[in-house]
Amino acid sequence: MRVPLLDLTEQYRALEGELSEALQRVLTSQQFILGPEVEGLEQEVARYCGARHGVGVSSGTDALLLSLQALGVGPGHEVVTPAFSFFATAEAILRVGARPVFADIEPGTFNLDPEKAARAVGPKTRALLPVHLFGQCAALGPLSELARAHGLFLIEDAAQATGAEGEGGRAGSVGDAGCLSFYPTKNLGGWGEGGMVLVREAPLAERLRRLRDHGAGEPYTHQEVGGNFRLDALQAAILRVKLRHLDDWIASRIERARRYGELLEEEGLAGREVRPPALSAGRHVFHLYVIRAQRRDALREPLAARGIQTGVYYPLPLHLQPCLASLSYFPGDFPESERASREVLALPLYAELPEEAQRCVVRAIRDFYHRG
Ligand SMILES: *Cc1c(COP(=O)(O)O)cnc(C)c1O
Repeated sequence: MRVPLLDLTEQYRALEGELSEALQRVLTSQQFILGPEVEGLEQEVARYCGARHGVGVSSGTDALLLSLQALGVGPGHEVVTPAFSFFATAEAILRVGARPVFADIEPGTFNLDPEKAARAVGPKTRALLPVHLFGQCAALGPLSELARAHGLFLIEDAAQATGAEGEGGRAGSVGDAGCLSFYPTKNLGGWGEGGMVLVREAPLAERLRRLRDHGAGEPYTHQEVGGNFRLDALQAAILRVKLRHLDDWIASRIERARRYGELLEEEGLAGREVRPPALSAGRHVFHLYVIRAQRRDALREPLAARGIQTGVYYPLPLHLQPCLASLSYFPGDFPESERASREVLALPLYAELPEEAQRCVVRAIRDFYHRG
């Protein structure tokens, strides 16, 4: 049995009619950039996430970049962020000319440890940029408190967590800005690149709208230097259809995550050779189902041989990335992030994943540890 990490073909088959209709609407209008589809998506996603304003942009990475720029984070500033994330989080900070100051993660949730974040705050710190990794919110209560106590902006990297719930609300709605990604593999994924910034304050939303369109407040009058970070109407039309089904898909992912936990438990693996993900309060939307596994790299081989695809997010923590050597971090600086990089393993998960496939995955893991 072949078990891919992610398979979107069934989702597409089920929605083909609705999606074709949405595409047709855009094709008939011949309006491809911004416009009513993007505005509709902005309102619907903002409402879904419990945010006041949504600004559609060209990707999750650009959502991060524009959030930092719109909040005035730049040269001379520091931004505290976890050492364990996708590279885009640190990249956005560097692209605005600020310096990422890494802090270690909590071993259970893989998310930024608020106490370690507090120790990383200094006189140059301007913002906290936690990541809701794998679909579970970081400790938003303590992090909001920390931001308030030091007068810092709180920017949420919610790229993996559309629809997740944490302390204070849904992912992306709690901080000064929340960044979503609509990359095709994300829980709410389009058919190309896309992202959104969620904000509370209307003037900030206005600035983001300006920045995504070359900093122009009115046509051909440029108040500041922005760029082309616009979302296109085809993506928006597709995403509006998919948003209507997101809660069902999330429920289905949660169900399958629970089943993995039970199966790993039944095989006597949980808490021994492998450690299923730890849940904090709220709603984990399981963008990825990530376990810790002993001898992780050796385990992947027999799984692959049986047609079971797995993923490693992420094999190298941010502070050890070659291009960040000038920040002068070294191995040993963030032991939990480094350990996570050695142990994490994403198992196949998507809303339509059959129970038999899950049993097949867990049997293969059992065979590796108990016979291998
Ligand atoms: C996907 C992702 C991004 C970037 O989103 P893109 O839409 O791919 O640019 C940023 N941060 C995290 C944690 C992500 O998973």
